Amino acid sequence: MRGIALLGRIRFLDTTLRDGEQTPGVSLDTEEKLAIARGLDALGVQVIEAGSAMTSEGERQSIKAISASGLNAEICSYVRALTADVDTALNCDVDSVHLVVPVSDLHIECKLKSDRKSVIRRAVEVTEYAKDHGLIVELSGEDASRADQDYLASLYLAGIDAGADRLAFCDTVGVLVPEVTTEVFGRLSRLGAPLSVHCHNDFGMATANTIAALRAGATTAHVTVNGIGERAGNTSLEEVVMTLESLYKIDTGIKCQDIYQLSRLVSRMTGLPLATNKAIVGENAFTHEAGIHVHGLLADTKTYEPIHPETVGRKRRIVLGKHAGRASVELALREFGIGVTDEQLARIVTRVKELGDKGKRVSDADLQTIADTVLSIQKEPKVKLQELTVVAGNTVTPTASVKIQLNGSDRLEAGVGVGPVDAAINAIRRAISGVADVRLEEYHVDAITGGTNALVEVWVTMAMADRRITARGADADIIIASVEAVLEGINRLMRLEEEDRLNV
Ligand code: MN
Repeated sequence: MRGIALLGRIRFLDTTLRDGEQTPGVSLDTEEKLAIARGLDALGVQVIEAGSAMTSEGERQSIKAISASGLNAEICSYVRALTADVDTALNCDVDSVHLVVPVSDLHIECKLKSDRKSVIRRAVEVTEYAKDHGLIVELSGEDASRADQDYLASLYLAGIDAGADRLAFCDTVGVLVPEVTTEVFGRLSRLGAPLSVHCHNDFGMATANTIAALRAGATTAHVTVNGIGERAGNTSLEEVVMTLESLYKIDTGIKCQDIYQLSRLVSRMTGLPLATNKAIVGENAFTHEAGIHVHGLLADTKTYEPIHPETVGRKRRIVLGKHAGRASVELALREFGIGVTDEQLARIVTRVKELGDKGKRVSDADLQTIADTVLSIQKEPKVKLQELTVVAGNTVTPTASVKIQLNGSDRLEAGVGVGPVDAAINAIRRAISGVADVRLEEYHVDAITGGTNALVEVWVTMAMADRRITARGADADIIIASVEAVLEGINRLMRLEEEDRLNV
């Protein structure tokens, strides 16, 4: 496993803002792109592909703003083999261009309606043009994995002669397998120019192929945060970084402890949720169900965790239910920073099991409430609902007004939304704005019993700064249940924040 430890430092070209933004339905404005670029720069990524300058005026503004923001990273624009594209990139003051030319016959003939010779000629012309204008050029073969490899090599050689600084090999439709990747990159790394690997995840092998390419001589990995990108996405930054760091013991120079924060930022800004089982950054990547595993974890976390959650800026989560034992409850409490005596622990475990027997998931809110009760900690809510009025129908904009008591004083606020629940939550968020900046990250409804008069249970995941908690509300009225869950979440987040402040 030590093959690549012998190589020099591996570089990362992050294309979250270009290939990642090409995910259907995703469009980022300048402020959002800037925030993500800053996060990538702080993480230690060497090259940021900020967008495609020819796309639109808004895109050019974003790229310009990123170029002007004084980041350490090289700022790059995607361009086609057109001098006009290079001109638009130059106008955005980028350091480099990712010059992409189709190299498979399928792409050359069907998409470009051109031929192999003309593609090489244009690649050379535009490379020379970009170099004449002071740009770093990464010459990239699109659909390279389905191209005639001799033709690809001749295009690369012509590009090197024309002054290209780096080469990139794109597995555009994700059809490489690791053995083939090793062979292909072994051959291409002998061409004498630094080589990048750009993979897509159509068969779930983007990370494996990227690692294989790095081991066979590629020096730069093209990646996106959370692996976002068209179709099944691109190679994910966090997977490649943590594979290199943890499994190959290579210092990538990436600030791993900031990975999770950036992952959340990208997910929030793109509106793309993560699969719960996504490697490294998924909800469940460091979540454990009670039982024998938790017993092992309590003895040594290495028993069921390949890396410490803190390595990537995360926290361990213990999910409790009727199988919960003393060990798991104790570990869960420890994660909250709550210490208990044996006798108190026994009483908390009994209460947890009672809830579990009723078929309930025991949220961290429930556990905290139980612990508070057993330890007889009285906590007055900071935010209390006094009045709630909601107007909804087919010809009105759903509107809610709320009167809440916040730290003892009344606040009246109104909000609109896509529906009555959304409107009510927006009104509450406005009422507490300035005091607590709370985000609603997930919302989930269960009907406990059947029929339209069923009791509804609402689960929410709420966040403030980098802390996330789950909270629950139950009522026959879905709006009340939602408001109850959100208020409970807000109260707990505010309490935890206060505790943090007092401990410091
Ligand atoms: Mn791509």
